[in-house]
Amino acid sequence: MMGEDKGLRAARHGLQYLLTRTGLLTSNVVESGGFIDTAGSGRPDVQIHVTPALVSAEERKSMGRHGVSINPCVLRPTSRGKISLRSGDAADRVVFEANNLTTTEDVQTLVRGLKASRRILRAPSMRELGFTELAPSKDDMVTDDALERYARDAVKTVYHPSGTCKMGKDRMAVVDPELRVIGLERLRVADASIMPTVVSGNTNAPCVMIGERCADFILGLEQAAGQAVTTTRSTTAPQERLSLSQPVR
Ligand SMILES: Cc1cc2nc3c(=O)[nH]c(=O)nc-3n(C[C@H](O)[C@H](O)[C@H](O)COP(=O)(O)OP(=O)(O)OC[C@H]3O[C@@H](n4cnc5c(N)ncnc54)[C@H](O)[C@@H]3O)c2cc1C
Repeated sequence: MMGEDKGLRAARHGLQYLLTRTGLLTSNVVESGGFIDTAGSGRPDVQIHVTPALVSAEERKSMGRHGVSINPCVLRPTSRGKISLRSGDAADRVVFEANNLTTTEDVQTLVRGLKASRRILRAPSMRELGFTELAPSKDDMVTDDALERYARDAVKTVYHPSGTCKMGKDRMAVVDPELRVIGLERLRVADASIMPTVVSGNTNAPCVMIGERCADFILGLEQAAGQAVTTTRSTTAPQERLSLSQPVR
């Protein structure tokens, strides 16, 4: 994929897409993915996004080679982020602290996700394609400590911040089960911020569902049971993910 977005090549891909609706531009780049139960708990705890391109540790910086990346992502992080006011001025930007990988559990899950991803890339069928690993290591055997160091160095968000004003009935809830802001009249919140915990996957479709349910609540077409109590803010940290990259020889 490298260089295909530049010059004549880019023009050719654009033309091919316009004329035949085929070719490189029909790709969504994240060509495949999956969910893995790395802890053996019977429920996936890691999602992988696989791209036919090298995704470097540093956001958007090209690694300058062709290759494949597997990005393991912690599905239900236990680390908690925080949003707070910077000042009394409503126009001032809020302070956003992601606090990624602040719990041992999240780090261990990510390390297991890395191991699973490395196993996939070392499968005989992948070996036949002539892969060598660029990161985290060319070696077959890598210690957990080294994987953790890599995880901490390469981790980034997968853009699913949520839960800054969670729905619920407990003292941390900001909106009630019908998404009304507790303690205020005629105000509801309907977006990713009301998720009590981040969903186990991508967040866009759940956000659409939240919006549609809120519309039904307002129209009186649907009711959620329960009554909320107090209003203290909590946050769910964005999901963490990192890159595991291999070039095609
Ligand atoms: C780069 C990126 C890639 C992503 N990829 C995926 C993906 O592949 N799959 C997936 O499922 N999810 C993906 N997500 C996550 C998904 O897009 C979000 O979880 C989802 O859009 C959140 O919906 P929302 O309604 O909570 O917020 P938003 O979609 O952010 O909507 C908030 C809206 O409020 C508007 N707004 C803000 N301030 C004001 C104001 N003061 N007055 C009026 N309007 C205002 C904004 O313009 C915006 O339209 C991605 C997110 C990002 C950033």
